[in-house]
Amino acid sequence: MFSFDNSYARLPQSFHRPARPAAARAPGLIRFNHALAEELGLDLEGADEARLAQVFGGQVIPVGAEPLAQAYAGHQFGHFNPQLGDGRALLLGEVIDRAGRRRDIQLKGSGPTAFSRNGDGMAALGPVLREYIVSEAFAALGVPATRALAAVSTGERVVRETMLPGAVFTRVAASHVRVGTFQFFAAQGDEQAVQTLADHVIDRHYPEARETENPYLAMLTQVAERQARLIARWLSIGFIHGVMNTDNMAISGETIDFGPCAFLDEYDPRKVFSSIDQRGRYAYANQPGIGQWNIARLAECLLPLLDADEEKAIEAANGVLKAFGDVFQDAWLELFKAKLGLTGEGADDRVLITDFLELMHQGEADFTLTFRILSKVAGGAAVETFTDLFAVPPPGLSDWLTRWRARIDDDRTAAERQAEMEAVNPALIARNHRVEEAIAAAVYGDFSFFHRLVDALATPYVEDPDTADLRVPPTPDQRVTRTFC
Ligand code: AMP
Ligand code: MG
Ligand code: MG
Repeated sequence: MFSFDNSYARLPQSFHRPARPAAARAPGLIRFNHALAEELGLDLEGADEARLAQVFGGQVIPVGAEPLAQAYAGHQFGHFNPQLGDGRALLLGEVIDRAGRRRDIQLKGSGPTAFSRNGDGMAALGPVLREYIVSEAFAALGVPATRALAAVSTGERVVRETMLPGAVFTRVAASHVRVGTFQFFAAQGDEQAVQTLADHVIDRHYPEARETENPYLAMLTQVAERQARLIARWLSIGFIHGVMNTDNMAISGETIDFGPCAFLDEYDPRKVFSSIDQRGRYAYANQPGIGQWNIARLAECLLPLLDADEEKAIEAANGVLKAFGDVFQDAWLELFKAKLGLTGEGADDRVLITDFLELMHQGEADFTLTFRILSKVAGGAAVETFTDLFAVPPPGLSDWLTRWRARIDDDRTAAERQAEMEAVNPALIARNHRVEEAIAAAVYGDFSFFHRLVDALATPYVEDPDTADLRVPPTPDQRVTRTFC
């Protein structure tokens, strides 16, 4: 089925432990991503549903797989834990996709590993479906993220607050190397392993860095820049990761481990959904600062590689952290300018954007719809369609609209302006209440809404009349206030 070409398994023994998936009573295929399988070059000849359920439920180890659990550490909510690792996931192996990119194939929820500690190594159906939905929503929005290849129900019961159906999720990633993977070795003072890992990362993700004078500094710089751009993308679609621990930040620049993630309905920069984030450390607007803090932890691990002179190494690392801030600010400005339809450079663009966000906050306006409907106003739609989105239209709104109209007044036709804005302002996101609805039905064995949602999210910029109900913000009683992983 796979033409595995495993590189992580060749790294020293301290990097991983062998792992075996647990037995599952009755594996059943929930969904398989045929388009992604095609992209990965999988050979599916003779692979019927039952066979796919066996393989992606962990009951048949495909030829060439070398299942292993990866070792890592991590700062969880600011507290360092030197021993985490894949406690409920295993890497089956790596494939080279049709575009020549190396991709990890990982099973999540396939039973305990050497790193499970007190955990059961299992995944409940809900989190598996949420990760499936959001992964594929990201892919359609063009936001770098791990992908969903398959979801399989196991027929096992998983004990959480209640008994829940179990499932296995197959995830595809550029790699699963995390900031926490570097921390694992750095915390042990194993500089050799840190270097081996850095070399692996350069070969795999940042080969251009090898050509520079200081490859490790170039790598760190690239990681920081990709992460800064990624977080700007999150903010541009109202995404809250939920658990930005250093073990949940991928070195590749892909969004990973978005367990209790959520999307904003009404705009609120302090918004938190995750039930485990009691102090709001990972609130919407805190994400760039946390990203930078995580990169600082990575830089600390790499100090010995950056320069033999410690002071110079620290100076170089500080340069990277400053660059993170600059790259984030620039990326954020570009994205939000495009969302408001601003071209060229206006001296007050940043103020125009932040004033708009402040008005949305005051008026409790829906983040996604507000930008989407403003696109239509730019195309000539009645302004009431826009102001109606504000629970209480704030006093400064009409003033702001006047400033905005003056700023977007350029050579473009109204229709061109609208089309450009609609191309960057999605009509459909994975709204929390719809995700929860899909999960709730699936727990009772009805997967039809889950499938409908995943299908709809494949075209987030299209206003298909058949999916109009999925674009509507929640009513007060549909509103989701907490998410769980
Ligand atoms: P997370 O924050 O969900 O990415 O997970 C943090 C750590 O806890 C990782 O090392 C996971 O492998 C581990 N973990 C989470 N849930 C389980 C579970 N049910 N069984 C074993 N390990 C788990
Ligand atoms: Mg994790
Ligand atoms: Mg999680």
